[in-house]
Amino acid sequence: MLWLAASRGWRDQINLFLPIYPYDPALGRTGVIVLFKELDLDPRLLKAISKLGLTKPTEIQKKAIPTVLSGADLMASAQTGTGKTAAFVLPTLQHLFRRSKKVGLGPRALVLTPTRELAIQIDKNIRQFNRFSKITTGLIVGGMSYSPQLKMLRNRVDFLVATPGRLMDHMERGKVDFSRLEIFVLDEADRMLDMGFIDAVKDIASVMPRNRQTLLFSATLEGSVLNIAKELLRKPQRISLATNHDPHRSIRQHMHQADSKAHKHKLLAHHLDNNQLTKALIFTSTKRGADQLAKTLRLKDHKTASLHGDMSQNKRRQTVENLRKGRVEMLVATDVAARGLDIKGITHVINFDLPTVAEDYIHRIGRTGRAGAAGCAISLVGSSDWQKLAQIEKLTGRKIDREVIEGLEPTGSEPNIKQRAKPRPKAKRSFTKSLKGTKSPKSKRRRRRSSEPQKTKQIRVRKAA
Ligand code: AMP
Repeated sequence: MLWLAASRGWRDQINLFLPIYPYDPALGRTGVIVLFKELDLDPRLLKAISKLGLTKPTEIQKKAIPTVLSGADLMASAQTGTGKTAAFVLPTLQHLFRRSKKVGLGPRALVLTPTRELAIQIDKNIRQFNRFSKITTGLIVGGMSYSPQLKMLRNRVDFLVATPGRLMDHMERGKVDFSRLEIFVLDEADRMLDMGFIDAVKDIASVMPRNRQTLLFSATLEGSVLNIAKELLRKPQRISLATNHDPHRSIRQHMHQADSKAHKHKLLAHHLDNNQLTKALIFTSTKRGADQLAKTLRLKDHKTASLHGDMSQNKRRQTVENLRKGRVEMLVATDVAARGLDIKGITHVINFDLPTVAEDYIHRIGRTGRAGAAGCAISLVGSSDWQKLAQIEKLTGRKIDREVIEGLEPTGSEPNIKQRAKPRPKAKRSFTKSLKGTKSPKSKRRRRRSSEPQKTKQIRVRKAA
């Protein structure tokens, strides 16, 4: 196999080191990698990949794995659900198979990710790919007891996954040694910035060796993500796949105008009676709203649970497991479940309330239509949701289909909402100060300015069940 620098063209400025093969019709038109075994991965990893039933690398895996194996820094954008976790986990594990030249116990690789759910998911993926090798792995997230984490940090841990808040807690207590660190993965960088973790990320990176390899993954590679990339990465390769701003093609998206909360309940009941709906994620804007709606649905004999940030980590994990196993069919959640929840067979995502941050809409609906399956995303748009809808449509660049159910028509017509520019939230706290007793920051409500008005509506009528 011949390794050459291949340029993907001026438009997306992608420069990749891809293996170039002589033309082979069996490998496809371009002759680039189509199977995992062509990726020069260690047999232990290939065995684990095969055990998981994976045969072909996804686009991001084809492109990122050779780049990471080459030792280059990397900034990559890829839609969630595209297999991006394996794209950084596999080459990182392969790197860790080589012995460290440095003595010590601290992590040789760190993945920093914004939410506990994502961290748990990544840790699970690492353990799946590591099942035939002996790399020591660890997880550090908030909402869990300190003592097992402290015990883990007293022993050798090669591959660590963490959320910024709890990791900073341990760092401030002098419990983390980054002197051996070789690979730093910043996952969901855009979300990290949205959640106000920018200072924490910088503080954490500032105590790492400068000659480390840094990999940045983000839904988008623009604005403040580019600034942080400039600060943390050295001569990065860049991979820009379809971003999260692209429509999810396998997901049918539509919305209903709702006059009131009671109207939303009726619209929801209509959809819950649909036989095609077998596993649903219903999003509300508040934790109390999630609990209340879950209670209402339970009273109507729907197997329902709620999921939000006020629940202990164990309870959250148990609830997600119940949905995965089918013990629960409907999960009413806040945006804590918008990212990182990878459950097969979610047929419907229903936005009972629209998200305040437009990007969260994309992440919410991405919980359905996974791994090639078809999905359905329904939004119930009440009087306080129109501005949010305008932001979502501006971000995704498409108008969500308006639908009316016979017998459940709205009384009014769609308001003429002025779209406003999307501001960035500010960080709520600095992680250089003491963190004790503080909670994770959330993005602030945004100030907005106006732009063009809404286009005309299209209404399709469906019969009420
Ligand atoms: P991620 O984007 O890392 O959250 O992955 C989304 C889903 O894709 C997970 O359920 C993975 O198990 C699955 N996945 C990862 N790589 C592949 C692959 N090469 N082929 C099929 N599914 C994959």
